[in-house]
Amino acid sequence: MIVCRTIAELRAARARLPSPVGFVPTMGYLHDGHLALVRRCRAENAATVVSIFVNPTQFDRQDDFAGYPRDVPRDMGLLDEEGVNIVFVPSAEEMYPPGFKTIVRVREITDVLEGAHRPGHFDGVATVVTKLFNIVMPDRAYFGQKDAQQVVVVKRLVADLNIPIELRVVPTVREPDGLAMSSRNVRLSPEGRRVAPILYRALSEAQAAWRSGRERDAEALRRLVRARVGQEPRIRLEYVSVAHRETLQELNGEVTDGLLSLAAWIDDVRLIDNVILEEEP
Ligand code: AMP
Repeated sequence: MIVCRTIAELRAARARLPSPVGFVPTMGYLHDGHLALVRRCRAENAATVVSIFVNPTQFDRQDDFAGYPRDVPRDMGLLDEEGVNIVFVPSAEEMYPPGFKTIVRVREITDVLEGAHRPGHFDGVATVVTKLFNIVMPDRAYFGQKDAQQVVVVKRLVADLNIPIELRVVPTVREPDGLAMSSRNVRLSPEGRRVAPILYRALSEAQAAWRSGRERDAEALRRLVRARVGQEPRIRLEYVSVAHRETLQELNGEVTDGLLSLAAWIDDVRLIDNVILEEEP
C-alpha cells in the first residue's frame, strides 16, 4: 500500500494504477461501515484509493472537530489488510493552502435536514469532495447510505458539474443491536451507548408500520418516532423527518416513497440515522 501525503505524490502514484480506479473518501477512525465501502470498491475495480482527511471546513462546531476521534496508524493497518492500493492522508495545509477562496455550494437540498442544523456543513462537504475527485480522478466513488443527505448532495454535484465519476451507494452497516456504526460512537458514555439503539428501533418500527399499511401518514410517522425516542430521557431529538428522497422536502399526507431520518443528541454526541420508506427489496 502506498501512503501519499501530498497531492503531487498522490497524482504520481495514481497515474500508475490499473483502471478502473475506485475511491472511498473517509474521515478515518475506520469501522466496519467504512470497510464495507472499501470491500465493495475492491470487488468492483482494478485498484482502490482511500482518503483519510478530517475536513475542518465541514465542521460547524470547533469542539466536534477537535474531539473527532483519530487513529491514522490503526486505519493504515486496516486498509493495508484490505488490499487498498493507495491511501491519501493530506494535511489541512495541503488541502487549503494560504489564499484558498473557492466554495462549491449545492443549493436548496442543503438548506434542510443536516444542512438546516449544521450551517456550512454541506459547503464544506461539496468543496472537499470536488477537490478529492479532481485530485484522485477515480472512475467510481463509494458513499454510505448512513449519510443519506450527503449522497443526495454529492449526486447533484456530480450531475450539475458534469464530473465523470460513477457514484455507488452502500447500505448502512450496523452494530448487532442495530446502532448505525459511526466514528462518533466511541464518544458515547456506557449509559449513552446502552440507550442509543432506540434510534434505529424507532425508525424500524415506523418503517414496519408504513410497510404493513398500518400507518402511511407522514406526520403520524414522525410522531411515532418521536414518541418512541421520547421514552428515553437521555436522548434529545433534534429532528425527525419524512422527506422526498430527491428534493428532501418534508412530505405531508400519504407517503408512497420517502426518506425517514433523524438526528439526536446523546450525552454531547450528535448521531444521525435513516431508513428508506420503500417496499421490502
Ligand atoms: P466518514 O468517515 O464518517 O466521513 O464516512 C466516510 C464514508 O463512510 C461516508 O460515505 C459514510 O457515509 C460512510 N459510512 C460511515 N458510516 C457508515 C455505516 N455505518 N455504514 C455504511 N457506510 C458508512
